[in-house]
Amino acid sequence: MIYINEEKINNLLVDTAKADSQALDIILDKAKSLKRLSLAESAALLMVTDPEYIKKIFAAASFVKDAIYGRRVVLFAPLYISNLCANACLYCAFKSDNRLIKRKALTVSEIKAQTEWLLRRGHKRILMVCGEEAPLGQTNIDYYVDAVNSIYEAEVGKNKVKRVNVNCAPLNVEEFKKLKNSGIGTYQIFQETYHQATYLQMHPKGPKSDPDNRIEAVDRAFLAGIDDIGIGALYGLYDYKFETLGLLSHVEHMEEKFKVGPHTISVPRIEPAEGAELSFNPPYKISDEEFKKIVAVLRLSVPYTGIIMSTRETAEMRDLLLSLGVSQISAESSTSPGGYCAEDAKKAGGQFSLGDHRSLDQVVGSLIAHDYIPSFCAACYRMERTGEVFMRLAKPGTIKGKCSMNALVTLKEYLDDFASFKVKEEGYKMIARYFKQLDAPDQKRLKLFFAHVDSGIRDEYV
Ligand code: SAM
Ligand code: SF4
Repeated sequence: MIYINEEKINNLLVDTAKADSQALDIILDKAKSLKRLSLAESAALLMVTDPEYIKKIFAAASFVKDAIYGRRVVLFAPLYISNLCANACLYCAFKSDNRLIKRKALTVSEIKAQTEWLLRRGHKRILMVCGEEAPLGQTNIDYYVDAVNSIYEAEVGKNKVKRVNVNCAPLNVEEFKKLKNSGIGTYQIFQETYHQATYLQMHPKGPKSDPDNRIEAVDRAFLAGIDDIGIGALYGLYDYKFETLGLLSHVEHMEEKFKVGPHTISVPRIEPAEGAELSFNPPYKISDEEFKKIVAVLRLSVPYTGIIMSTRETAEMRDLLLSLGVSQISAESSTSPGGYCAEDAKKAGGQFSLGDHRSLDQVVGSLIAHDYIPSFCAACYRMERTGEVFMRLAKPGTIKGKCSMNALVTLKEYLDDFASFKVKEEGYKMIARYFKQLDAPDQKRLKLFFAHVDSGIRDEYV
């Protein structure tokens, strides 16, 4: 696979297995000074098995998470618009040869209705997701653009979607330009596995069977002007240490070629998917302990990249992973096109089963109970703090102050408009607590924002 040197990764995993505690301490000290780690340093941390030392890695990851992101956690919901797919990924229910699921591509008015349902729950950030149809199918780039437009057009009272991120198949540069012009935030694409032989085995047919075309999609998106890119690996297909170093090699490639790393990294674990046998018994099933280590090592290796955790994971696991580095989570998700508000009989098949079925209100309540500030903010994207500009701001930690303020404004908006009585009560207490921590000029500014929210204004940010 281009950009991925398998021999180098395998050698690093062998060489760093011998790292002693003195060498590991030096790596953790470097990480705690918020410096990006080298591939060899990340490999050394991944090879650690001593439980006592793993505790040290977790403590360092919590430290870095807190230093850069503070207590805020960004919330979003996926919106599946189509499950038509020409590929045959062995782990996914949308694979073309799966006859067990009902297929559907939503119309623009259905997409708008789904978005309005999400807006009524309180969501403001949407991840649009779809299968990959054969070229010239009905779900082509024009369909994607119409879908993005209809999500932005949806309105419930004064609430509108602030940011649409997209997870879709690789496009060419012209198509990416169209997607960019539709106003998307992040373009997400997961390489699934960075191990060539596994990739070929898992993707036996369809356009996705070419691993180089997939990895190069990131480069084409950059060339088209999309500079917020999300990458990821689907954990469970191959050895997790190799995959994590593959992901980090991909980051290095992006940094070298485009001077900016990924905006986010996703770490999906394979979940059971109807009609996709492999998903019930993944070849390299990851234990919870290994998964925690993956998140912690990523947090330490690329401190300024957001880490996304979906509702594939259980509520308990997600709460735990927040302390190790996760900065964005989805809530109240459905992986079926039309899954939010269609009658059951009309719902299309879902992509995989979920581990966390809590409502957005329950997730917000749980975040508050764990002293995390739920945030619905999209200010960076709207102020064009993306790509290199975002990285420059994020690196010295200056984004943190702005983020905390924006998070508190969006939390107040959520509490006023959507929260249950109990969540409102705890949420207002949280706002009062964090308000006290701000300096006088910020307190003055925030008071003004809050007065605006009280008067009915929505969507203000710094
Ligand atoms: N179809 C496009 C593609 O494959 O890039 C875009 C979206 S696909 C619906 C989103 C992601 O879901 C895939 O990249 C894959 O990592 C993940 N996925 C597929 N099957 C899964 C499963 N059984 N469990 C967890 N994640 C899965
Ligand atoms: Fe299609 Fe994407 Fe599922 Fe593969 S992962 S079958 S490309 S929807």
